[in-house]
Amino acid sequence: MKTNILVATFGSQWLIVPELLGFTNHDTLDVYRNRADFDRILEEGCRFGIAPVSELWLVSTDDESTAQAICDVREWMRRATPGVRLRTAILAGVPDLENAVQSRQMRDLVFRAVLKAHEAADGGAVFLSLAGGRKTMSGDIQEAGTVFGCSAMLHVLSRLYGRNLPNYAPGDFTSLSTEEAAAITPVAVFGARTRAAYLYGHDEVGPAVFPLSLGDSESDGSGRNPPDTRLIERVESLSKRAGIVLSNFSAATAMDERGETFRSLMGLHPETIRRLQEDKIGVRREDGAADLDWIRAMPKAELHCHFGGILTPGQMVRVALSEKDRVLAALSGSAPFRDWLSNLESLRRGRQWESIRKICAAKADFRFPVPGISAPIPVCAFLGLFADDVPALDELVFGPFRGEGPFCAIGIQAYESLGDLQGSGLLQSESCIRAACQCLRERCRESNILYCEVRCSPANYARGGLDESEVVRIMLDELADGDDVRFSFIFIASRHGDAALVDRTVELVQRLRSDPPPAGWSAAEVADFRKRFAGFDLAGEEGRAKASDFREKFDKLLRSCVKMTIHAGETESAESIWDAVYGLNADRIGHGLTLEENPDLLDKFLDRNIAVEMCPSSNYQIRGYQDAWVPESKGRPFYPLAGYLDRGLCVTVNTDDPGISRTTLDREYLKAARMTPGGLSKWQILKLMHNGFAASFASYERRRGLLREAGRRILETFENGDDIQP
Ligand SMILES: [Zn+2]
Repeated sequence: MKTNILVATFGSQWLIVPELLGFTNHDTLDVYRNRADFDRILEEGCRFGIAPVSELWLVSTDDESTAQAICDVREWMRRATPGVRLRTAILAGVPDLENAVQSRQMRDLVFRAVLKAHEAADGGAVFLSLAGGRKTMSGDIQEAGTVFGCSAMLHVLSRLYGRNLPNYAPGDFTSLSTEEAAAITPVAVFGARTRAAYLYGHDEVGPAVFPLSLGDSESDGSGRNPPDTRLIERVESLSKRAGIVLSNFSAATAMDERGETFRSLMGLHPETIRRLQEDKIGVRREDGAADLDWIRAMPKAELHCHFGGILTPGQMVRVALSEKDRVLAALSGSAPFRDWLSNLESLRRGRQWESIRKICAAKADFRFPVPGISAPIPVCAFLGLFADDVPALDELVFGPFRGEGPFCAIGIQAYESLGDLQGSGLLQSESCIRAACQCLRERCRESNILYCEVRCSPANYARGGLDESEVVRIMLDELADGDDVRFSFIFIASRHGDAALVDRTVELVQRLRSDPPPAGWSAAEVADFRKRFAGFDLAGEEGRAKASDFREKFDKLLRSCVKMTIHAGETESAESIWDAVYGLNADRIGHGLTLEENPDLLDKFLDRNIAVEMCPSSNYQIRGYQDAWVPESKGRPFYPLAGYLDRGLCVTVNTDDPGISRTTLDREYLKAARMTPGGLSKWQILKLMHNGFAASFASYERRRGLLREAGRRILETFENGDDIQP
């Protein structure tokens, strides 16, 4: 119900209340009967919309003389204004405002009272009075009126106070004498104010979060409010932020012209922005740990990560051990299998890595060495041999490539063969796929990844008894939305693999996206797939087939507007990128390292907002680029990432195959900086992180939500550190 409320700061002068109510409720009170020009004063009041109130709220300190004055007010009101309800808000335990802390606590209480009055008025008028109480309280209530809005701000001008105070008993006061009435003038200091613009969208700034206790009579103990300052702190921080945003907008120089970044960064102090633009990452090796810590603290998106290449040697062993029982059963049931494994075990003991590598390289023989033992049991059995000696497995897999110097420019085939003991070699059973998903989630958590698009070829994991739609179901389930990382899926077709597999993968997408749901899938599972299936990828060796050769096979996907990312310009020229953009309508390009060869095409990327997924370590390892921290790489070409950023391209940083590349997403940002002459500024790093969210294949709504959440978390990181202030 609409209620008009007057909120007044209050001290020990009870007479202030008749003087105020005589103004607002003049229709029923004749306090100013003896003032000759009172009509003129009322006319003034009318201009400010002064109207009778039915509630009076007094805000005061907790002391005896104030308590007595409230008793006097109550007694007078009982008799003179029975229709007006008196309520009180006392700052409990604070008898006087003696220091800065108490004065802030009072300010907080005044703010809470005005905030609560707006709710209680329910659309009625909220008048405020600064006439009573300590001087700072007058300032507090004026400010509260400006912050939360009010219908009018009232005051009582007096030529008497401090010299010749009228001394009435509340029991018999009805009106001021002629002399007093002439010396006392109620006024409206200012009229209606609306709630401050910077509070819009901040509904948490309300009485639910910042409550007020209101007392109704002498007897009820409520109305006593414990000292607090949280409301004014919140308001001060929002107001400060609003000022900064305004100044950043006006001084657009503070923001970068090229491309977008997190909007929340507008809330940083311009001096902080300047520092972020000057502070470099990846310059000095001795700052590497601090650089990584800074990168790790920021929320990130991962857009280019192959499920088949995520595992470290330790994780490969862990995934393999998830099939321990089946391995033991196979060993006890098959003598040829036992012999096969014991041969490998003796080679392992002898550290005969070259011999083992040869055996592993004959993929079919290694993965299915003995009839009747299905995938992935042989690979699991073999990896299990390294359970107590993971460094040996690391040595077997990577050999000389454990050093960053030698692991450079090795070509795509040598690079891919480093993943032979994982991916489709290992992930051929439910428990292995689940264990690998868990490793992926852990990796994402460790790198503070908020959103991850994991790419896979489900049909590649269907050689151990699972069918490809079961593979998808297992991954959807194991990578379900948690409170930490959110996963989406990109399916891959290979340029150089089995053509039938491409058709099967396209068909799988069609099946899972069509009505009615495929057999065995619940409606909820199908809905989950549709929400989290993000797009389609063409990978594999670029030199072996053109993207446009797949136009016909991909036609159904393109017709249903499935988003496309195409590996192009990883090992081939810009022509291959052109082909992906014009032949398959690529929304993103994986790698795109040769884009600079064709400036017109680069312009087209800007026009169509096509994003580039760069994978610094993988690019360094396959093609070879200069890395300021690796002396052996001197003389190699410069990495094009910073040039792309300068042109305004939507560049993103990703891991590709973190297990094969011996990296994490945090390290990839650092690697990108190391491969850029002079390093990358923190501001550029933040922009790359922004691009990761902005270029994601999540739905429009989901993408906006992720950008907002990431922006908010970044701002929190700065606020929790000492970074926000210059
Ligand atoms: Zn890739």
